[in-house]
Amino acid sequence: MKKMIQTCLLIFIVHAVSLSAECEPTIVQLAPPVLNPQTILKEQACTRPMREGSFKISSEKVGSKTITHIYGHGGSGWTTLFGSVNSGIKLFQAMPGVNKETPIRVIGSGCMGLTTAIELSRLGYKVVGITTKSLYDMPSWRAAGYFALVSVKTSPEEQENLNAIGVDTFKNYQLIDQGKHPYITQDAVRYLPVYCSEDTDSGVEDLEVRGLIPAHEHVTLDFGNGVLRPGFLKYMTYFMNTPNLMQQLTAQVRKLGIPIELGKVESFNDVKETVIFNCTGLGARELNQDDKMIAIRGHLIALNELSGTEHMDYMIYTKVYQDDKEAYIYMFPKAVIVSDDEKSYIPCRSVLGGTFIPNLDKLSSEELAKRDAEEYQKMLDRNALFFYGKPFPR
Ligand SMILES: Cc1cc2nc3c(=O)[nH]c(=O)nc-3n(C[C@H](O)[C@H](O)[C@H](O)COP(=O)(O)OP(=O)(O)OC[C@H]3O[C@@H](n4cnc5c(N)ncnc54)[C@H](O)[C@@H]3O)c2cc1C
Repeated sequence: MKKMIQTCLLIFIVHAVSLSAECEPTIVQLAPPVLNPQTILKEQACTRPMREGSFKISSEKVGSKTITHIYGHGGSGWTTLFGSVNSGIKLFQAMPGVNKETPIRVIGSGCMGLTTAIELSRLGYKVVGITTKSLYDMPSWRAAGYFALVSVKTSPEEQENLNAIGVDTFKNYQLIDQGKHPYITQDAVRYLPVYCSEDTDSGVEDLEVRGLIPAHEHVTLDFGNGVLRPGFLKYMTYFMNTPNLMQQLTAQVRKLGIPIELGKVESFNDVKETVIFNCTGLGARELNQDDKMIAIRGHLIALNELSGTEHMDYMIYTKVYQDDKEAYIYMFPKAVIVSDDEKSYIPCRSVLGGTFIPNLDKLSSEELAKRDAEEYQKMLDRNALFFYGKPFPR
């Protein structure tokens, strides 16, 4: 009997020790970015092309035209890129009368349009051109670069499809990372830790469940300035260097001899080709009369070289509270942004962001400018409070 009690006690102690080792958070020392008026390089706002319920990937016959739609990915367009394009092309291939001789027109030169043109061409289809309203003024250039399924409005019945598209895309970024991708070089991605509070949906949970990334760790963040943030989780995922990716995709389109022509398509009937890929993002609201499209505005603050370098080796994506209201902050190690005049690439040392505000496109330009200015101020305070425990010094 005594032996049995001793054995039980031993099992209990071993279990308790291993449990506490499992749950004891690791302290992670992180260098915060230096935040003051001298370290702010630039503020930029942009609008995510969100579609209520689900993004649109479909192929349909409209009169004499076969139109394949690939748009509406909200804040996850880069995260769903390759999977979405592959799905759209598969649906197109299943349409009646498809052949490799019929000229194809792609509308839109964001990440979806460029990748669609490249993949179709690699499969032997005849892409005769991309028509686009703008070369630079679009979310694909401005996106922060976090690989995660966040800010994409998916109904529960669509979730599995979204996850599958995310996995397909993740595997493509793995190929890029391993230097095995057919047309994108390794420097377009970085595999990095991201820290999220325990009550934040990180957007990478599905990758963890499928064993594509390591299991998360419980951590306490220590910013070395007296600020400790307990209750955080560490995940691993990709940072996608979006301007670099856009440059490489554009270069590949040109290498394939596909012309990129500037112009707004007002109606599918105005396109002379009978096969069309519609990759117009938010433009699909008008072009495809899709009233499920919602503009979700996001604000980014790029930091300059005075902000330091060590914060470029990790990512933050987390829920916080500001004035008792739920808000988000994120920091991603973007190293270059495109200037507003679209003529140059400006080096930077990460971007701060985390606003997801619907329907601001309905405001007048004065009202929008005022609202943007307020958001930047709030963002700076949120970040300074998170990293330093005090408001942004002005
Ligand atoms: C602030 C911000 C941060 C983001 N961060 C991330 C992130 O971290 N991770 C992530 O995965 N995603 C992120 N995103 C989302 C991502 O940028 C988008 O989902 C993605 O770029 C959408 O790509 P797209 O090619 O569908 O559309 P777009 O980039 O909008 O391109 C649409 C193209 O269509 C053209 N066009 C539109 N209408 C017409 C017309 N009628 N005729 C001709 N051309 C037309 C436009 O000129 C443009 O070339 C972010 C977005 C924003 C705004």
